Amino acid sequence: MSNDVLVLAERVGKQITDSTYELLGKARELADAWGGRAEVALFGPSEGAEQLGGADAVICIDHPALSDYVPEAYETALLHVLTQRAPRLLLLSNATVGLDLGAALSVRWDAPLAAYAVDLAVDGDALVATTQILGGKILAEVELGGSRAIATVVGGSLPPMTPAGSAEVVTLAPPAELDSSRMSVLQVFEPSGGDVDITAADMLVSIGRGIGSQDNLELAEELAQALGAPVSASRPIIDAGWMPKTRQVGKSGLKVKPKAYLAFGISGAPEHLEGMRSAELIIACNTDAKAPIFDVAHYGTTVDLFDLMPALAEKVKG
Ligand SMILES: Cc1cc2nc3c(=O)[nH]c(=O)nc-3n(C[C@H](O)[C@H](O)[C@H](O)COP(=O)(O)OP(=O)(O)OC[C@H]3O[C@@H](n4cnc5c(N)ncnc54)[C@H](O)[C@@H]3O)c2cc1C
Repeated sequence: MSNDVLVLAERVGKQITDSTYELLGKARELADAWGGRAEVALFGPSEGAEQLGGADAVICIDHPALSDYVPEAYETALLHVLTQRAPRLLLLSNATVGLDLGAALSVRWDAPLAAYAVDLAVDGDALVATTQILGGKILAEVELGGSRAIATVVGGSLPPMTPAGSAEVVTLAPPAELDSSRMSVLQVFEPSGGDVDITAADMLVSIGRGIGSQDNLELAEELAQALGAPVSASRPIIDAGWMPKTRQVGKSGLKVKPKAYLAFGISGAPEHLEGMRSAELIIACNTDAKAPIFDVAHYGTTVDLFDLMPALAEKVKG
């Protein structure tokens, strides 16, 4: 049995994604514990391989069918890498790509799959994955026995690895099946109305249902303006049509990692926490002292947001 761990790299444009570095950090840790290698599969043009120092090898396959993400072609290419490199564990992101490929390869590579994993640890001979069930309300520990396994890991759950040095680049010839791929991308539509990129903000003033009504949004906007931060929100605010989808934080919105996340009137449902729990500093304002947001907040207050927001805005404005 091999003791290697393979990660599928994902890119946005030419940039390797944060979640790839999170997977690579865990791959490094597990491969070191098993005495194996941490390898990364990179599909399409090999640019980006130099950003993956810290891996023992970057396995590249380039083919026109792999220039954009297409499930059929990526599944074929990844199965080819799995067959050639025979790792003990395949790590994928628990997002569009990983959820597609994890399920398909669990069948085709004949390996158990732990989806929605938030951590993985070696326990004697076994590998134990901590996974979310019921939308994160319950965590389950799943033992992955046997000689091979797959885990899809929720973004933001693991510390990312800082790449250092350079990895060996191994180029594999593309499998012949890619020549007869039946799917190709015709056009990529960027989301419209992206007024502010909340994922790039250092600070967010985030509001939830506690804000009460659309008219009260101006309280948040005033504070946000004083702090030089955009306003983001929990899902009910978006569902009510009070703010655009581009401002939604959470499972079905965006994952944010600001230096400071100020949560006003947000209860802290698992689906919301999934999008913001990696913020460096979380400050919560919620009149309910038992609200779950306080489990992740570094600082918190049960002061009424309608008192706190205007007072804070005044204070910041001096
Ligand atoms: C598949 C799925 C995906 C989802 N995706 C997302 C997602 O991406 N993002 C997301 O946010 N949710 C998501 N949800 C919804 C999620 O489960 C919660 O319903 C939602 O996060 C609750 O939003 P909230 O905290 O604003 O509202 P509530 O849970 O209603 O909380 C409002 C809070 O405001 C407090 N409050 C009230 N008045 C005041 C006041 N005057 N001052 C201070 N505090 C006050 C209350 O004590 C309460 O804790 C998803 C759900 C599902 C099933």
